[in-house]
Amino acid sequence: MNVEIDRESGFCFGVTNAVKKAEESLKKVKVLYCLGDIVHNSMEVSRLAQLGLRIINRKKYHSLNNCTVLIRAHGEPPSIYEYAQKNFIDIIDTTCPVVLALQKKIRETYLDIAPMGGQIFIYGKKGHAEVVGLNGQTNNTAFIIEDEKDLDDINIDINKPVVLFSQTTKSLSLFNNLSKKLTEKTMGKAKINDTICRQVSNRATEMKVFSKEHDIIIFVGGAKSSNAKYLYSICKHNNPSSFFVSEEKNLKKEWFEGYKKAGICGATSTPGWLMEEIAKKIKQI
Ligand code: SF4
Repeated sequence: MNVEIDRESGFCFGVTNAVKKAEESLKKVKVLYCLGDIVHNSMEVSRLAQLGLRIINRKKYHSLNNCTVLIRAHGEPPSIYEYAQKNFIDIIDTTCPVVLALQKKIRETYLDIAPMGGQIFIYGKKGHAEVVGLNGQTNNTAFIIEDEKDLDDINIDINKPVVLFSQTTKSLSLFNNLSKKLTEKTMGKAKINDTICRQVSNRATEMKVFSKEHDIIIFVGGAKSSNAKYLYSICKHNNPSSFFVSEEKNLKKEWFEGYKKAGICGATSTPGWLMEEIAKKIKQI
């Protein structure tokens, strides 16, 4: 069987930077905590855990002092930095520059329009780490919109500023639908900010082509990754013989029967080494 790994798949620069900084820091400090999974891929999290990275949740974070904590590419709200300052926590900040720029834009917009009773909308997943960090810039006053229907439940005051942003990893086409609806509801007054990271949306276009070029697609991704779910749905739509795996033991021999060309792709959180391992295993099968 011919097995090809999609060259555009794998870590985006934001995740590459976070993992690299974690590896470097692990060589320097005795204990390195990471607030939340450094990447939504359990195989990569286990690899880094073996090097000494300790994943903690927010509750544990708020019990710490005098230690080193890594902030992952998703970013965090201001309250996390304030706690660190008061409790002598050394922060290794690997917030992706794209997310940092978005946080800044939201904060500035909030400071600008809050005195006028302005309303900020963020298209994103409620409780997602990046969204928590973005909402923190508005003092947790933004409306988090998961889909178009959510807009129906909000009483929008169109005589006051209305501004829309998006979590960086959302689908561009769904964002466009939502923007259209918000524009209609506000009679064109809403200010729309397309803040979707092209590291994800451009891959969707490439994946459409890649998935059609192969008989079978093995999509490698973590169960908790939003962009893995989204990119996998693109593959499945364009090639019904697409399968989602998180590790090599998920592969099934019967999937490959009658096929000659297998394509492997992954999310922005899928490590290259894992796709290589999956490729080797498919060749053995
Ligand atoms: S997907 Fe984009 S915003 Fe998110 S970490 Fe990667 S480069 Fe940064």
